Amino acid sequence: MKNVLVLNCGSSSVKYELMNVENSRVLARGLVEKIGMEDAVVNHHYLKGEDYSDVKLVKNILTHREGIRIVVGLLTDAEVGVVGDLADIYGIGHRVVHGGEAYTDPAYVTQEVKDDIKKCIELAPLHNPHHLAGIEACDSLIPDHHQVVVFDTAFHQTMPKKAYIYGLPYEMYKKYGIRRYGFHGTSHQYVAQKAAQIYKKRITDLKIISCHLGNGASVCAIKDGKSIDTSMGFTPLPGLVMGTRTGDIDPYIVLYLMNKDALSFAEVNTLLNRHSGLYGLSGISRDFRQIIKEVKKGDERARLAVDIFVYRIKHYIGAYTAIMNGLDILVFTAGIGENSIELREMVCSNMEYLGINLDEKKNREFNSQEAVISKDDSEIKVMCIPTNEELLIATETARVIDGMKKS
Ligand code: ADP
Repeated sequence: MKNVLVLNCGSSSVKYELMNVENSRVLARGLVEKIGMEDAVVNHHYLKGEDYSDVKLVKNILTHREGIRIVVGLLTDAEVGVVGDLADIYGIGHRVVHGGEAYTDPAYVTQEVKDDIKKCIELAPLHNPHHLAGIEACDSLIPDHHQVVVFDTAFHQTMPKKAYIYGLPYEMYKKYGIRRYGFHGTSHQYVAQKAAQIYKKRITDLKIISCHLGNGASVCAIKDGKSIDTSMGFTPLPGLVMGTRTGDIDPYIVLYLMNKDALSFAEVNTLLNRHSGLYGLSGISRDFRQIIKEVKKGDERARLAVDIFVYRIKHYIGAYTAIMNGLDILVFTAGIGENSIELREMVCSNMEYLGINLDEKKNREFNSQEAVISKDDSEIKVMCIPTNEELLIATETARVIDGMKKS
């Protein structure tokens, strides 16, 4: 059995999933939270017979290494475990946010790869250090296991230069690597592959726009199976309005505010990343469900927040259809994309000119299994596809390890 352990190490958390890649069955998944605190929490969800059961631990977990040690213990535990011992785990796949320009594909973990992840800390200071801590913890806890990293930026490395270079002096790119990198690559890649399967065509013959709409949100133009543009940029801040992030703004606003209100670097950072977006616009919440509730009660700022969110998505759909010279499939995914009937309705309304005709009934009846939600005669197929980054990371990890073993 090829069981792959997928790890996503955040600043104070480790999200994990153990999956049999031969049948895509999840054997266990869970989350270690509040790492660094005495009352850290582990929620472990495991397959017992045909059903899943849960166990919760509250423990003093001060480091990622300790968190992963507990996860490994749970996976092999006599009571709540799902494998006999560590030999039943084929390899470990890590989600890594930033691979810079060096990585267009997943990579087998070597010292050189770890050094490259370290170099990208400058570009992803909130993520890459913790991913590295996870890899190093596995190095010492399960040293004879193969490890693979799958980068969020890798899928977008196919963008043409005209899409990723900013209108700054070119030296800024050469000197500091300032360019569009794009994020959510694993999710965009996964849903695009699924969309092609559902459409029963080769991905290399399709033009797809994927809308990943969660707390973080981005749109991606995928032509011939390759990302050719995406709305996030040098950082995950630009593009769509998000839960708490601004999305696209005039960069001069930052200078203006620094001057007007004497804002410091930290204050500007908080303003742009934490106090803006749906939260800042509505003054209510970053949670789309909450905002929609208030819209229904007639709250005007909630209405404005939703209108801007929808408007920007439409903007990108139009722009990306233009640069691809057409569109075959529009995909909605992630928390809002998968769950909000209203959002999908609003985005697809008045898009008949482009060839988008949503089927109201199919849209309303969508229930967590990937599906086409446009009318049968809609020129562009609209799909709703639950994202599954873990599945893509697990299968890519097994593929890279298989390749290593053959070579
Ligand atoms: P992330 O992984 O970026 O943190 P998610 O993909 O989990 O985010 O998406 C979170 C967003 O999805 C939140 O804005 C939440 O309100 C929204 N969401 C979740 N369920 C629903 C629902 N049933 N209807 C509308 N929005 C939902």
